[in-house]
Amino acid sequence: DDNLSESDPEVRTIIDKEKNRQFRSLELIASENFTSRAVMEAVGSCLTNKYSEGLPGKRYYGGNEYIDELEVLCQKRALAAFSLDAKKWGVNVQPLSGSPANFEVYTAILNPHDRIMGLDLPHGGHLSHGFMTPKRRVSGTSIYFESMPYRLDESTGLVDYDMLEKTATLFRPKLIIAGASAYPRDFDYPRMRKIADAVGAFLMMDMAHISGLVSAAVAANPFEYCDIVTTTTHKSLRGPRGGMIFFRKDPVLGVDLESAINNAVFPGLQGGPHNHTIGGLAVCLKNAKSPEFKAYQNKVVSNCRALASRLMELGYKLVSGGSDNHLVLVDLRPLGIDGARVEKILDMASITLNKNSVPGDKSALVPGGIRIGSPAMTTRGFREDEFVSVADFIHEGVQITLEAKKSVSGSKVQDFMKFVTSPDFPLIDRVLD
Ligand code: PLP
Repeated sequence: DDNLSESDPEVRTIIDKEKNRQFRSLELIASENFTSRAVMEAVGSCLTNKYSEGLPGKRYYGGNEYIDELEVLCQKRALAAFSLDAKKWGVNVQPLSGSPANFEVYTAILNPHDRIMGLDLPHGGHLSHGFMTPKRRVSGTSIYFESMPYRLDESTGLVDYDMLEKTATLFRPKLIIAGASAYPRDFDYPRMRKIADAVGAFLMMDMAHISGLVSAAVAANPFEYCDIVTTTTHKSLRGPRGGMIFFRKDPVLGVDLESAINNAVFPGLQGGPHNHTIGGLAVCLKNAKSPEFKAYQNKVVSNCRALASRLMELGYKLVSGGSDNHLVLVDLRPLGIDGARVEKILDMASITLNKNSVPGDKSALVPGGIRIGSPAMTTRGFREDEFVSVADFIHEGVQITLEAKKSVSGSKVQDFMKFVTSPDFPLIDRVLD
């Protein structure tokens, strides 16, 4: 039964098809990347067989001498990857992914219904930062905590720190969250620290998107100002899917973050750690100290700048007028189309990116923009010139979308999707070209 092709050809075939899709397409989803063979080898290893509830040296199961060695190594490498002093910072490498890591922090330092402020989802924040609509508390974070999101200044596309300060002064949150899923600029940590201090709040940064950039010092360093830093491990950091929580070792606002966070992870919200992921993460974090990794992160940023410049040359409006990191957010509304239609047409041409809301949008299902990221194709070896071509391909896709929109009867997105996937779609040759 060892061989997947023989024991389960059905799953083998699906994996092969997905591998082919990944190989064939231009992968531009800002939160995705291609991890290394070495990482995948660790993730696909016998480490998946072992239970190890608890922390190194304090487990609830026997047989953990090697798992302890692995987790300690992973923790050391995690601190080294972000140049942290082990006397001042600790890390938990067990979170199963980014959203659980964030929720673990909230349950560690907050009581139910305490107040939090994160960047609003339609303005680039993440669901797990407290998203809610006027009708519904969408994420667990907004169900169990009282959330008052802060937003961008719609005229500049930048975080409106003045408004954040005013709102925080009135709302008096216990936690302020920096970090985003679709924000092309860095956060102003000194300003956020000041606001947090003025209202007696913890300051946390969710650096999921930019942790690779932070590690290589091509983005500002959140550790200088924040009490807690969370991250996923599979985006710009290029590791396996997982999460980490970094915390200050000295008490903050009277809370011993180390024990509160470790207890929130286990037994609070998780059981046994995914040791195969921790193995893959250790491999990724060793790589993060290499000169090649630093060069890669520099390329991620310069490639993204080249992409942004070309798009602006072609007349596109970018949220915040450009990018300092690994992603651009294109506002398509001036062209009279939306991100959903463009995503569909580009998908048909094996160009993979995602529709994204842009400040001022009314609908999240038919948002006015697209988000384009440089990490994955930079891993595949693309340089600035190739990213200029990527911008040109996207431009072609937008032109086709505009033409297709004119030929569809009815203005609903569903009609458009049905039409362009039907055999009568007249522009299909140009899409596939
Ligand atoms: N935090 C941010 C800023 C993210 O962008 C994401 C995912 O895209 C997450 C957290 C959640 O990570 P996961 O999907 O691993 O739960």
